[in-house]
Amino acid sequence: MPAHSEPNNSHPSHTLHDPVIRVVGAHKHYRLGDRDVRALAGIDLTIQGPGFYAIMGASGSGKSTLLHLLSALDKPDQGEVRISGQNLATMSEKDLTLFRRRRIGIVFQQFNLIPTLTAAENVELPGMLAGDDPATLRARSTELLAALGLNGRSAHRPDALSGGEQQRVAIARALLFKPRLLLADEPTGNLDSASSKRLWALLAQIAQGQAVAGNGDSEGMTIVMVTHEPAAAAYCKRVFVLMDGMMRGHFDTPGDPEAVGIVASQYQHLVSAHAHNGHAAAHSPGHPVA
Ligand code: ADP
Ligand code: MG
Repeated sequence: MPAHSEPNNSHPSHTLHDPVIRVVGAHKHYRLGDRDVRALAGIDLTIQGPGFYAIMGASGSGKSTLLHLLSALDKPDQGEVRISGQNLATMSEKDLTLFRRRRIGIVFQQFNLIPTLTAAENVELPGMLAGDDPATLRARSTELLAALGLNGRSAHRPDALSGGEQQRVAIARALLFKPRLLLADEPTGNLDSASSKRLWALLAQIAQGQAVAGNGDSEGMTIVMVTHEPAAAAYCKRVFVLMDGMMRGHFDTPGDPEAVGIVASQYQHLVSAHAHNGHAAAHSPGHPVA
């Protein structure tokens, strides 16, 4: 196995040919009292390179569970998760901690900012905890906050910021170490629709390498957003449809944020195609999954 797990900011060129995300046959069950909850039932997912991608599905379809596997916050019961070619199952706990801190960024519906710290301090916190040079961190947080439209907000505490601004601080924090991959779990769940649209547009720009210099690959970075909203998915270039813990297929959007109706009907098409067949199509006996 190639050992390229150095916990630094560089992205060795030999990993660039590996897909950013490769999931094969991932299963995940939860035990709830004496009940066995099947959250993921054999997920395959490949995301080759930079771009803004959506994982779309109804509440309870397994979206957050899948994101937890991608961010190494949790492990599959079965199957394999590779990020930039690296099999997460073969990494030590120490390497996983460094991987989570430096190689991927993650943002949630809750902004998870520390209320007593300023915007700049919140952005710098992961670097401070890692013992990085404070002056370098301040330069990076200043650059990020400006790029995300938060000029003049760096000394504000979270309660002096709007929801949209707080989420942008959380994104700046997630980008601190220039990760190749940013994961976002319903990032606009606490925002009004105008702020949501601004945030989706910003994520699309970041993915194209426009908003923030120096992130990801030269062509941009990979952003995977979990959502149940067609309006959000319309900002993405490709949508993966998750239903009952299974990947129902994917489609490419028109690439136009206004094309919400088209995205909604493409999504519905995949969902209802499978609803008619029930689960039989995915599990037909005699047709084992290769
Ligand atoms: P989504 O993010 O799409 O709403 P989740 O991944 O959160 O879906 O959940 C998928 C399924 O797994 C749901 O049925 C949910 O109730 C169940 N589940 C998620 N987390 C847990 C947990 N920690 N314990 C028990 N069941 C869970
Ligand atoms: Mg969820």
